[in-house]
Amino acid sequence: MTVFEDLESEVRSYCRNWPVVFDTARGSRLTDVDGRTYLDFFAGAGALNYGHNPPALKKPLLEYLSRDGITHGLDMYTTAKGEFLRTFEDRILRPRGLDYKVQFPGPTGANTVESALKLARKISGREAMINFTNAFHGMTLGALSVTGNSMKRGGAGIPLVHATPMPYDNYFDGTVPDFLWMEKLLQDAGSGLNEPAAVIVETVQGEGGINPARVEWLQGLDALCKRNGILLIVDDVQMGVGRTGPFFSFEIAGIQPDIVCISKSISGYGLPMALTLIKPEHDVWGPGEHNGTFRGNNPAFVTATAALNEFWSDDALERSTLAKGERVDQAFTEIASRSQTVELTPKGRGLARGLQFSQPELAAKACAAAFERGLLMETSGPSDEVMKILPALTITDDELEEGLAIVGESVAAVTE
Ligand code: PMP
Repeated sequence: MTVFEDLESEVRSYCRNWPVVFDTARGSRLTDVDGRTYLDFFAGAGALNYGHNPPALKKPLLEYLSRDGITHGLDMYTTAKGEFLRTFEDRILRPRGLDYKVQFPGPTGANTVESALKLARKISGREAMINFTNAFHGMTLGALSVTGNSMKRGGAGIPLVHATPMPYDNYFDGTVPDFLWMEKLLQDAGSGLNEPAAVIVETVQGEGGINPARVEWLQGLDALCKRNGILLIVDDVQMGVGRTGPFFSFEIAGIQPDIVCISKSISGYGLPMALTLIKPEHDVWGPGEHNGTFRGNNPAFVTATAALNEFWSDDALERSTLAKGERVDQAFTEIASRSQTVELTPKGRGLARGLQFSQPELAAKACAAAFERGLLMETSGPSDEVMKILPALTITDDELEEGLAIVGESVAAVTE
């Protein structure tokens, strides 16, 4: 039932693949208006790491609303904001030995990327950026400028920010030593490369096709930035908040980026919220220098605080995410080994997993076949050649098995 088709711009994308009207959702299941249920391996493109309507977040949200808690607080000090900041400090930053100031840059991932780029320019007094092949950072002009895929610019033309794409990990399949090009260009005054303010990187490229950078590569990048006086921005919008196991995806490399971008699952309830984390010595913002009406989403602060208390008071979620990720990898490896006609390559880290098809168009067909069987998932990668799954981290083992079985059947249906 595609009743809204004539009302909505053609610019929409995900729902085009799923021609039903969704109504309610709980945990890892959605229900449509006809009462059919779907298992969710999409999780709001990574915005629902704790599933739909998690009870431990819903209760405090309803209580907050029922006592007329402030919903829109912008820059005011509010109890909800204060509790979030204190909890974030106590549960996330301090136990990891991290020292960051928190900025609320606006409601979305693109907002935090914009603020990070602007801040890096202000700190360094330089304008240029270095980004990576296949990177994705959002749909605003600055974020698009550092997105390493010109197709994503959607005809928006010349980038606003001067950005030079460098090869991401494995771009040369190991045939060229890491950072050889980058360091040579940076140190060659005549190379024409503008002195960069910052490097912006994802530790696992999500939209780029679930490409995990190796730990050594991330450490090498951090060292290169330090050697050359360049700020390091980690865009953890999709891979943060536990998606790869640890709360921050860069923890695995033991690095401390200068600026960190967080959004998607930070509210825990699918409510818009973003953070820009800034090393205290780099917090050079003046009052009013990065404004925006929707920076104080107090209901999101309430659910975010509840999520940190519920899921990050110990390492249980991290451990179960890593174990579930291993299970998906094992299942994908089995599925790949069964395929006679198409080469399938499993990839990923934690519960960000992909299966790359040597015939790109089959990835979308596999997703469509999965939808017919009641499973939601999407594709990513430059040619949409990767079947991508981002289940809620709270998915039960039974639900995970159910979904993996459907993935196996759907891949077989399009490859045999
Ligand atoms: N950075 C990364 C790494 C992302 O994956 C995304 C969204 N897919 C964004 C930024 C942009 O976030 P938003 O869509 O909330 O603007």
